[in-house]
Amino acid sequence: MSNTPSPRRRPPALKTLDHTVAAAPLLQGRVLLHENALNIPRSRHALDDDLSGVVMTGAKADERAFQLRTTAGYNGTLLIDSAPYTTYTATADQPFMVPPDELFASVDDSLAFQKARGASAALTPTGYISPANSRALKAVMREANRIERADTLVSLPIDVTWLNRENIGQLIAVCAKIRHPKAIMLFRQFDPLEQTKDIPANLRRLFAEVEHMSLLRTDLAALDVMAHGALCAGIGVQSSLRHAIPPGEKPQRGKRGGGPTYPNVLMPQLMCFKGAESLASLYANADPATCDCEECDGRGLDRFFLPDGETRQEADNHTVLTWSDWVSEMAGHPAGIQRKTWWRDKCAAAVDRYALENQRIGQGASPRSAFQAPPPLKAWATLPITP
Ligand SMILES: [Zn+2]
Repeated sequence: MSNTPSPRRRPPALKTLDHTVAAAPLLQGRVLLHENALNIPRSRHALDDDLSGVVMTGAKADERAFQLRTTAGYNGTLLIDSAPYTTYTATADQPFMVPPDELFASVDDSLAFQKARGASAALTPTGYISPANSRALKAVMREANRIERADTLVSLPIDVTWLNRENIGQLIAVCAKIRHPKAIMLFRQFDPLEQTKDIPANLRRLFAEVEHMSLLRTDLAALDVMAHGALCAGIGVQSSLRHAIPPGEKPQRGKRGGGPTYPNVLMPQLMCFKGAESLASLYANADPATCDCEECDGRGLDRFFLPDGETRQEADNHTVLTWSDWVSEMAGHPAGIQRKTWWRDKCAAAVDRYALENQRIGQGASPRSAFQAPPPLKAWATLPITP
């Protein structure tokens, strides 16, 4: 498919779905890719039309989504997430952001506007739901249940503390009362799933107990919830799109701020994301891990330590191809106990590979500087499976 817009021909008129077309069947079983609307929209060959789709997010997400549909000719599943939760906090009186812009006079208009721009289903413009703010959470439920449309996905951008032992019961109760499909997004600096030990288990519980739940803007947690019965999920193409931070907070950097940024790379054997800079240094004196995906074709994974756009695109393609492969593999296992067992065994096998890889590259004696299995991966590898 060509991504080059033709200067002479007008883009074809956009066919849109009206509000009577239900969201759930369109999204069922998909792992979507969150794309930042800053980038020129293009179709990604790595995405499988039957199992994936795109969430266009960020400023001008609607405009970029429209271009993706028209100029780039994308026909797959598409959501538009204008990310109001990055600047707006939900309150008991106004859980949804209704900007002063005339186009968004009401929530219904905001939903209809997304559809007119080519979205397959519409996301509510919910504000960030801060820790233990039960009144705001209940207000989302109340207002969401007034929406008379079949195409709506109620977005729930919650602080990760909602998944703690003290709050999970209330979160489940409220979600169960929302009569539309729901989309959870987790807020916290760094990896929300690493905040406390019981979060991966409680996230699974939420997805097991409530129907039509999805998890957007995440990382491999997308696959964990899919294995455990989620409606759909979404993985961010960049690390900033794999979680969100509360309005008013600045993203904190690991060791140092500023300077060029390098891609984060999904490691196929170890099932973790690793920065290109650390990969280049870990593999400085050893043969790098290689990858057989279409993009890498057997080349080493230490090659992304460059700040240019082409390298980033190559790294992104590698990452999308890698997890897409896992999504297809998962789809080959019947939902339920078989799929859950497959996923647990896959995570356990990855955890077991860390020691070997560290030995191979001569990092065995200093585990702190070596590869370390992320705590959520260890949880997915060991949590008990329920039928
Ligand atoms: Zn690759």
